[in-house]
Parts: sequence; C-alpha cells; structure tokens
Amino acid sequence: FLDLDHFKTVNDSLGHDVGDQLLVTMKDRILSAIRKTDTLARLGGDEFVIMLTDSPGTSEIRAIADKVIAEVSRPVTLHGHEFRLGASIGIAVAPEDGTAFHTLLKSSDTAMYHAKAAGRSSVCFFDKSMNARVIRRLDMEAKLRRAIDNDEFEIHYQPKIALPDRTLCGAEALVRWRHDGVLVPPAEFIPIAEETGLIVPLGLIVLTSVLRHIRAWRDEGLRTPRIAVNLSARQLFRPDLAATIFRLIAEYDLSPQNIELELTETQMMADPERAEAALSQLHDAGFSITVDDFGTGYSSLGYLKRLPIQCVKIDKSFIQDIGADSRDEALVDAILAIGRSMKLDVVAEGVETEEQLQFLSKRGCPQIQGYLFSRPMPEEQFRHWELD
Ligand code: C2E
Ligand code: CA
Ligand code: CA
Ligand code: CA
Repeated sequence: FLDLDHFKTVNDSLGHDVGDQLLVTMKDRILSAIRKTDTLARLGGDEFVIMLTDSPGTSEIRAIADKVIAEVSRPVTLHGHEFRLGASIGIAVAPEDGTAFHTLLKSSDTAMYHAKAAGRSSVCFFDKSMNARVIRRLDMEAKLRRAIDNDEFEIHYQPKIALPDRTLCGAEALVRWRHDGVLVPPAEFIPIAEETGLIVPLGLIVLTSVLRHIRAWRDEGLRTPRIAVNLSARQLFRPDLAATIFRLIAEYDLSPQNIELELTETQMMADPERAEAALSQLHDAGFSITVDDFGTGYSSLGYLKRLPIQCVKIDKSFIQDIGADSRDEALVDAILAIGRSMKLDVVAEGVETEEQLQFLSKRGCPQIQGYLFSRPMPEEQFRHWELD
C-alpha cells in the first residue's frame, strides 16, 4: 500500500490539473522501480497498491519498496515549480498477514499509517500489534470528538517576563483537556487532533476562550497582557482563518494587539509560500506573529526574512543545556544576534534555573518564559498572578 506524501498540499494549492499530471508522473516512476511481473493499481486519490505475486523474501520486498521511494522522491518540475514528493509504504505478506485480498489490503493500509506516522518516506511491515494501536487511536479520536462537543477544555496561562526589569509582558495560552477529572497534557491529544483535523474546531475553542478571558479581565479592570495562542498549520492553511479571527475579535470588541500567534518553524516551512500569504493577511491586520520552537526546524534565513514575523522563540532544548553544552550556548547567542540584526523580538522558553536566567540576561535576551518564574496556571490564578 503506497500513499504519496505532500501530494494533497500541491494539489490544493496548484490545482487539479497540476495534481493529475503529477500523478501520471508518479505512476510512471513507480512502474520503473518495480519488476515486469509486479502489478500496480491506483486506488484513487494519491493511493496505490503494488502486488508482488512471486512471494519474494523480506529483504527483496524491502529493496523494491526502497527503490520505489527513491524514484518517487526525485524532484519533479511542472509549470516552472519544482516539487519533491515522498511516499509512505505499508507492506503485508501472505499468508502470515492474511490470504484474502481484502485482508492483505487492510493490513498493508494499517502498516502504511504507521509508516506515515514514522515520518516522510518510511516503509513499514504489518504486524499484529498494529491493530491494537489503531483501535486505541480510533478510541482516542472518538473521545476527542466528544470532548469538543462537550467543551472539556481549559486554558492555562504561562507568563512571559521582560528582561532586565522582570516585568510581566505577556503570556502563552496552553490548552488542557479535563477528561474524567484528570488533566490530559497536550502531547497526548494534539498530535491526534492534528492528524484528524480536529485541531481546527479545537483551535477555535482555544481562541474563543482566550478572547472571552481577555474581555473579562478588561471588564473587571484587571491588566490585559498580550496572549500568545498556538496555531497549527492545519488552521493556518484554511482559507477562512483570517476572516474567522477578525470576526471573533470584533465579536469580543478586542483588538489584534491583544493577541499574538505562535507557529512552529516546521509548520511554516511545510509550505512557505502559503504560510507567507496567510501570515501576511494576519500581520497586516495588526496581529503579532511568533516563530515557535526556533532552531529545531530547517528554515532558511532567507525565509525568515520574507515571512512577516515579529518574534522568534528559542526552543527549550537549547536553553536546557546552557551551562552544560557550549554549542547550545553558541547557538542561543547566534539566535539573539539574528534577532537584533533583523529587529525581531526574542523569547527564550523553558527557562528553569537561575544559571540559565543569568546567562540569558548577560547576553541581552529580551524575554523569557519558563518554570523558574511560573508553570502554566489556570485562568483564575493567572488573572491575579504577581512576580515575587
Ligand atoms: P509549545 O508551544 O512549545 O509550548 C511550550 C511547552 O513547554 C508547554 O508544554 C509548557 O508547559 C512547557 N514549558 C514551559 N516552561 C517550561 C520549562 O521551564 N521547562 C519545561 N520542561 N517545559 C516548559 P505543554 O503545555 O505541555 O504544551 C505542549 C505543546 O502542545 C505546545 O508546545 C504546543 O505545541 C502544543 N499546544 C498546547 N496548546 C495548544 C493549542 O491551543 N493549540 C495548538 N495547536 N497546540 C497547542
Ligand atoms: Ca497522501
Ligand atoms: Ca508555543
Ligand atoms: Ca515551543
């Protein structure tokens, strides 16, 4: 079972004509990688099935799969655009994984999902434990859907502190799921929400809750620091994102200055041109845009210059090794220098120790966030939170 990686993005942004041509090219490439005796069928969309009927051994199957991926991943130029697709391949073998065609198809499809989850251009053989995992995932998805209908989410806020004065200069909104009385951390449900598209309604719940809170603070005469909201690429690439945000801001009678939008580097780079277009719309309306997890992706400085961003957030993995790894210190220094020369704000996240704070203040880091000052906290606590 083969599913192309990134095909949908190309098809959505450049249209079905380009998409169709691309599929023909990919079909020819797959054919050139398999043997004369093998069969290739297209299931629909960007999904293909390859049948090897002479029961080759595992290593030979893998060699064929690797060759197919190598062919598919070569760059293609169409209408002056250069693309590089990839493919995820799941493999089922008869008779171990089934003998009926539909069973093999289902097993290889399951294996393909595991390959997809492992990252681009992976190959995965089916094994029986995968069924249990798929069921757990489906179960999680159903629970998440219900949680969205029943509004089981809470927003916690983590302060951002300006240096050197150590004043509150904003906060990040972080979603929590209260499920059967337990707070489920985002790492356990955001990835599934992203995969299933549920991040779109969930993101809307987060944004609405944040605006409701800010409005309440203002109505009660409390401070209204700028709140950073995390956006996923799925949200960013929806054509109605900007309109939805504008409508909500107007509904709560707030201004774009109340909100900052955080997107990870990797998500922006999934499709830099579309990201640029979508972010420009928000930036022009007055929203501040931050690149999250900066330094962990592969964005080029060229894009950093092109994108309408105001702030970069140094990933906590670099902060954590301050004092232990001089290469991480050099990297933090370099990011601070980039920030200064490109007139971008810089936030260091994950600051946990006094030593990290000392290092960052000495190097002139303008803002920090981390457990040293505060963990994320419920709204009731954050509204009166003071730095001691
Ligand atoms: P992130 O955006 O990088 O958020 C920072 C994470 O670091 C948060 O984890 C925060 O609690 C944690 N953190 C803060 N200070 C420290 C520290 O000093 N040390 C350490 N070790 N960790 C610290 P959290 O709340 O578990 O969120 C994890 C991720 O889930 C976030 O990473 C973000 O990618 C995602 N997420 C959270 N809320 C939302 C949301 O509303 N929408 C979307 N799309 N993603 C969200
Ligand atoms: Ca696909
Ligand atoms: Ca963030
Ligand atoms: Ca981060």
